[in-house]
Amino acid sequence: MSTRLILIGPPGVGKGTQSALLHARLGLKTMSSGDIFRKEIEAETDLGRMAQRYIQHGELVPNGVTIEMMAKRLRDEDTRKKGFVLDGFPRTDRQAEALDEILFEMDMGLDKVISIEVPEETILHRLAGRMGCTKCGEIYHSRNKPPMREGLCDKCNGPLFVRTDDQPQTILERLRVFKETTEPVIGYYEKTGTLLRVDGSVGPEETYQEILAGITA
Ligand SMILES: [Zn+2]
Repeated sequence: MSTRLILIGPPGVGKGTQSALLHARLGLKTMSSGDIFRKEIEAETDLGRMAQRYIQHGELVPNGVTIEMMAKRLRDEDTRKKGFVLDGFPRTDRQAEALDEILFEMDMGLDKVISIEVPEETILHRLAGRMGCTKCGEIYHSRNKPPMREGLCDKCNGPLFVRTDDQPQTILERLRVFKETTEPVIGYYEKTGTLLRVDGSVGPEETYQEILAGITA
């Protein structure tokens, strides 16, 4: 059996965990755009060199180059036979259309596009809450490892601080960017009837079982 899936979800939703489970249990090849970029760059292919020029300048790799790299990997014999899980691609509705064209040429279709959904508060709750001691560097977490006295280090009495990356407004900004770019992609697959929405706020195993039920239905 060859199953072809896409995983979509905001940061902190557990895409990596689900993609690893799908690989371990169903033998699907996992393909993230980041991994594919890295491999092409390491192999110093023409595409890799092109991508690297953009990355070096801190720019986004243009659609055309990204799509070419994904197409190359999708045409692999192994990917055709065993199926795949795409993570981090497509990111825009333009990329979703291009992916459809590539698969159409190869006479393949997508089985399901899985949108892992979690309420914003849950993501904030998961990602936020980390604090570090300004004096000794000890790390705390408001739920998992709270200090005995609020805002003070157990070890050295130093004041605790929250890193910029872990601040609620930074997390909210990342979520906003995700929503803005990915909502059209979700809409695109909703129209084609391949969208499967699963609950990412339950445990990883429960989410996996929802995915499994959805793809074998
Ligand atoms: Zn300390």
